[in-house]
Amino acid sequence: MNTVILLSDTADWLSLARSFAGLFCVVVACLLVVLVCVGALFEYLNARHPERKIQKNRINKRKWKELAHAPGSIAIIAFCFSGGLFAQALGWTQTPAALSWWTSPIFLGVSIILYDAWFYWIHRLLHCKPFYRFHALHHKSVAPTVWSNHHESFMEAFLNQAFYLLIPFLLPIPWQVLVVQKLYDQISGMLGHAGYEHFASPAGRRPFPLASTVFHDQHHGHFAYNYGHTFSVWDRMMGTLYPKYDETLASFEEKKPENSGHESLSGSD
Ligand SMILES: [Zn+2]
Ligand SMILES: [Zn+2]
Repeated sequence: MNTVILLSDTADWLSLARSFAGLFCVVVACLLVVLVCVGALFEYLNARHPERKIQKNRINKRKWKELAHAPGSIAIIAFCFSGGLFAQALGWTQTPAALSWWTSPIFLGVSIILYDAWFYWIHRLLHCKPFYRFHALHHKSVAPTVWSNHHESFMEAFLNQAFYLLIPFLLPIPWQVLVVQKLYDQISGMLGHAGYEHFASPAGRRPFPLASTVFHDQHHGHFAYNYGHTFSVWDRMMGTLYPKYDETLASFEEKKPENSGHESLSGSD
């Protein structure tokens, strides 16, 4: 049973602000740990498997700039995520369902599907001329690195992450499930920018709905394709899938490093 907390005076608000600040700091700390651990893991994997590089002729010299930008983006992400959890804890949102072995995976799946749709359409919006100013920073890296995930304007970070502010109002999703989704979201976002395809599999291409690292890498390399996040479904339906996506991913499954199947790109970012 969720108890709605009503605030009557200034002391209540100050106490609430302190509680929110505490939650915000915990979330920031966790996100920074995830950033460093996942980033270090992919740097290690990339160094061990140079043949898995997607844009073989392009060198990204921006990784330190990208890394320096990450804390600001993480602060926005933490603000939105903490805001949603906090509103739920105060009983201002839908009453979350009890955790159970069968409802939790359903909530997680539904929320990931909803976020994928949210991400696709916000991303399409950001590619429209009046809004592109908020997205241009993210596209400075034509060949992304694992650190490019947080190389975004604060407005872009807010537009994407506003999902986590809103979802507890729409779905009675338990906070523990939201934590799992956020963790998945952070890791898959970094995976999508890794620049190396380590996990190529048929599940990432037709007729299956999942995306891959090649999928988002092609968004950076070719700009007007592959706007989705976890799935390629919206891109397939809306005609924005990069035409050579399926065959390029298949070429990584076949382990043909000398013929990856994508268009040759040269130069540096
Ligand atoms: Zn974009
Ligand atoms: Zn990107």
